[in-house]
Amino acid sequence: MSEEDTGAPHFATGAEVEALLDKYARDRVGAHTRMQCKVCWYVYNPDEGCPEEAIDPGTPFLDLPDDFVCPDCGHPKTAFLPLDDDQIDPSDPSGPAQGWSDRWEHG
Ligand SMILES: [Zn+2]
Repeated sequence: MSEEDTGAPHFATGAEVEALLDKYARDRVGAHTRMQCKVCWYVYNPDEGCPEEAIDPGTPFLDLPDDFVCPDCGHPKTAFLPLDDDQIDPSDPSGPAQGWSDRWEHG
């Protein structure tokens, strides 16, 4: 007796969804992308590595071993999110104003 084949539409399995999310995450995470632990706010800087976990400087987050854990709180890599330092502070509608303070304080 074979499995019933009704030609039903293909639904993504959990593994496929995870693979997509993983790909999406990798697209966002570059070799120099800093990653922040969303539990304790520890920031992994690839340029500095992580001496506590014997990670050499220059190691991209994606190259960290799967058993890497946050040195501060012990949560796994999945607790880390990209730290977007290019984002403009939404609380400041005037946008970045670098140089203005220097201009007004001059003289
Ligand atoms: Zn942490």
